Amino acid sequence: MAGGERIIVVGGGIAAARAVESARAAGFGGDLVVLTDERRRPYERPPLSKGYLLGTDASSAVYPLDAAWFREHRVDVRTGVAVRGLDPAEHTVDASGETLRYDRLLLATGSSPRRFAGPGAGLRGIHHLRRLTDATALRRALTGGGRRVVVVGGGWIGLEVAAAARRHGNEVVVVARGVPLASAIGAELGESFQAMHEGEGVRFRIPDQVTAVRGVNGRVAAVVLGTGEEVSADVVVFGIGATPNTRLAASAGIDVRDGVLTDASLATSAPDVYAAGDVAATWNERLGRHLRVDHWANADAGGRLAGRALAGEAVRFDELPYFYTDQYDLGMEYSGYGQLTAGAPPVIRGDLAAREYVAFWLADGRVVAGMNVNVWDVNAAVQRLIRSERVVSPEELADPAVPLDALAGDAA
Ligand SMILES: Cc1cc2nc3c(=O)[nH]c(=O)nc-3n(C[C@H](O)[C@H](O)[C@H](O)COP(=O)(O)OP(=O)(O)OC[C@H]3O[C@@H](n4cnc5c(N)ncnc54)[C@H](O)[C@@H]3O)c2cc1C
Repeated sequence: MAGGERIIVVGGGIAAARAVESARAAGFGGDLVVLTDERRRPYERPPLSKGYLLGTDASSAVYPLDAAWFREHRVDVRTGVAVRGLDPAEHTVDASGETLRYDRLLLATGSSPRRFAGPGAGLRGIHHLRRLTDATALRRALTGGGRRVVVVGGGWIGLEVAAAARRHGNEVVVVARGVPLASAIGAELGESFQAMHEGEGVRFRIPDQVTAVRGVNGRVAAVVLGTGEEVSADVVVFGIGATPNTRLAASAGIDVRDGVLTDASLATSAPDVYAAGDVAATWNERLGRHLRVDHWANADAGGRLAGRALAGEAVRFDELPYFYTDQYDLGMEYSGYGQLTAGAPPVIRGDLAAREYVAFWLADGRVVAGMNVNVWDVNAAVQRLIRSERVVSPEELADPAVPLDALAGDAA
């Protein structure tokens, strides 16, 4: 692509940062513009429920690229600019009222948290967690301890917030519809995470849900559960999922289902418009359908690949879904296709009770997903095993003496 052309990236997360970085690295010499509705340059969110919330990471830890990088690479980052319209035929966007022309455009608009909309939704002391400003407000509410914190939702973010709230010395109750994480890793392993939190003093109300929040003088005082019972609260955090920000694409007539549909080259149904990160549902050859992955590594890799595509390279997205979490002293990595495991129980290599193990999920005798908990330097081998699509025996999988690379058919 020659100089004089313009690439526009819409978004202010990790996908946007990686896209401009790799477009420049691929030799794109024209105008590179980032439009983000947030008031800061692109940043990443995992620290918001971990180190930053705990107070161990400074806010500077969230930036993958420093301000000087954008200046040196002539990337024009326009903050506080919401893109409200996109006209694929004209190749223009409406950037907070200004019409800008592009040659190629990336949608990296990410997702937004599902918000509690029931009675009491407007009370002070209710938190959702997506942006740095959300995390700063929540950190302030948790720091110093001694508060009664109710976390609504037993997913990854809910549990990370529960861990941080405990570490700050607060009382914590998690309200969840079922065993935490059961939809992601099954009930048995979810119960193991629950037991870890209970060991740290977190109490669980499951299965239950919050139907209302009751306040006094405009501030949260309690949550009302489905049973009608009330649980006192000073702080209520909703971690009840996120939905992709597809509105811009949909209003432009671009094909959208659960995410903006792209082919394996990250191209959408509109000419010269690509999508990556949480907002994209990308064609996945292995599954034979589009797959949306709302995890950091997907946005990181997708952003990098999209940058090359924007610069004019032919690319193909072939990442295995990957995710990690840190809670208390536990570290975990997960790779693979939970969609294919169909609720089958995992094969465990290691010590589940001691929370030091690798779990494998099989479909048709092949490993389709794996999760290492407090066991390190194995995730690459787990990924090779998944990619190998080799039939393996559960006995060998469970046996730590059998190298994973041998099961994947690789020479040791
Ligand atoms: C608290 C928290 C903790 C997490 N922890 C983990 C973890 O441990 N491991 C993991 O794998 N994943 C984690 N995730 C998920 C991970 O952060 C996301 O997958 C990642 O942020 C996706 O990046 P993205 O660039 O696609 O989108 P986002 O990070 O959502 O960024 C999208 C950006 O686009 C902006 N935007 C949207 N619409 C417009 C518009 N019309 N105009 C202008 N700007 C717009 C948004 O404001 C935002 O800045 C976590 C997420 C959160 C919220």
